[in-house]
Amino acid sequence: MIPSGALKELSRIVGPDHFFLNYEDLLACASDGTKMKFMPDAVVYPADTEEISQILALANMEKFPAIPRGAGTGMSGGALPVNGGLVISMTRLDRILSIDQDNLIARVEPGVITARLQEEVERVGLFYPPDPASFETSTIGGNVAECAGGLRAVKYGVTRDYVLGLTAVLPTGEIINTGVETAKGVAGYDLTRLLVGSEGTLAIITGIILRLITKPAAKKSMVAFFPELSLAVQTVSSIIKQKVVPTTLEFLDRLSIDCVREEMGIEIPVDANAMLLIEVDGDEVLVDGDAEKVKDACLGTGAIRFDVASDKEEVEQLWAARREVSPSLLKLRPGKINEDVVVPRSRLADLVSFLGDLSMRHDLPIPAFGHAGDGNIHVNIMLDKENRDEVERAELAVRELFERVLEMGGTITGEHGVGITKAPYMDMEFTRATLDLMCRLKRAFDPNNILNPGKILTITDD
Ligand SMILES: Cc1cc2nc3c(=O)[nH]c(=O)nc-3n(C[C@H](O)[C@H](O)[C@H](O)COP(=O)(O)OP(=O)(O)OC[C@H]3O[C@@H](n4cnc5c(N)ncnc54)[C@H](O)[C@@H]3O)c2cc1C
Repeated sequence: MIPSGALKELSRIVGPDHFFLNYEDLLACASDGTKMKFMPDAVVYPADTEEISQILALANMEKFPAIPRGAGTGMSGGALPVNGGLVISMTRLDRILSIDQDNLIARVEPGVITARLQEEVERVGLFYPPDPASFETSTIGGNVAECAGGLRAVKYGVTRDYVLGLTAVLPTGEIINTGVETAKGVAGYDLTRLLVGSEGTLAIITGIILRLITKPAAKKSMVAFFPELSLAVQTVSSIIKQKVVPTTLEFLDRLSIDCVREEMGIEIPVDANAMLLIEVDGDEVLVDGDAEKVKDACLGTGAIRFDVASDKEEVEQLWAARREVSPSLLKLRPGKINEDVVVPRSRLADLVSFLGDLSMRHDLPIPAFGHAGDGNIHVNIMLDKENRDEVERAELAVRELFERVLEMGGTITGEHGVGITKAPYMDMEFTRATLDLMCRLKRAFDPNNILNPGKILTITDD
């Protein structure tokens, strides 16, 4: 509960027009991409770093939870007020402050929508590669807090690879600057890298300096269908062995294809059990050469059909269909547990064969799709969450999945973060000593555990 005096003070800090207590406004910040629901006690929409500093100083003094929120598309419950408290929405900090073409950087506020930044930089011939499938709604602040990946991560890496520096507010209200605006810089500990992916548990990010690159001159999208899942996975290795690093190398299994069949807008062979969506980019000549190599690899491993997207509309339709896969899976069952495990690329075949076995043993559909090019597969355990028996089987399946992925040298989450959904499994991936160090770091930033408590780690009062 937030004391009534503190509520008055919050209204004063942000102004009464940006402070909310009524049910509808609280409900708007109660859920996220997980569809779980936890009601906050109050919501504020601050305008700048200074207001956020005052809000956190107050939360720290009065010891109430403060939860930063971007667009609320997170898939691990990171923005949910699990213990009530104050949601701090970052959506008013939405300015692109500068796109510096001399130094190839952008200075932005955290509430900027990812797609808007991409459009603005591309307008001047530059490129910001990280592209989570949620890019039309997610915020850059949310991307930085989760270290979002995306479809182009195979070639261009993830959000972390583009963040040069940050302005952030500590849970005590102090304002810090980390990193640099320059191409190089090694002074001090790398606090930028620590804050990227910290899921709003260490500081609230209020300013971001991003590295930009030049926009590739050309690109080509291709689609290949395979009669068997194992052949599609084999093709991934075969493409990489040809020394082609595609921009994107996405994989869909049969269940996932069936869910977006109509959205694809192309004819899909009836005996297709797996599909690869591939994009290459770069100079015109290079792209043509790489596309040829991709074609050879696909046909060489037994693709039953291979097409190059003929025009811009077809390309956009294919990628839009890919982005629709996740929500469309609900056609199969009313609920799902969505995991985003990663294995070394060389173990992908083992992972997909294990998933078939897992689905049979627990008698639950488990469609898989995702970023095959970087070994990051979205494993969806479909279930009816009202059915106790199914829930128990699904929970067992999740634990077995994580055990297997860790045995293969992988990780339990490649881009969605730990939040609340994976917090119970952190001790499967990390030793006690590693987790203790993470808890000590959290306490150093947030001595009263007021900033996004209950996420990633269990912090005890001692
Ligand atoms: C359909 C769909 C597709 C998706 N595809 C991808 C994908 O391809 N790749 C991928 O990586 N993710 C994907 N996601 C997950 C999600 O979109 C990303 O995690 C995204 O980065 C979240 O951004 P957001 O603005 O919605 O953040 P929110 O969900 O609002 O918050 C996420 C976390 O960031 C914290 N946070 C937000 N803003 C700040 C800030 N300014 N300072 C400190 N902490 C902050 C919150 O407290 C929370 O812990 C997908 C989600 C959906 C629904």
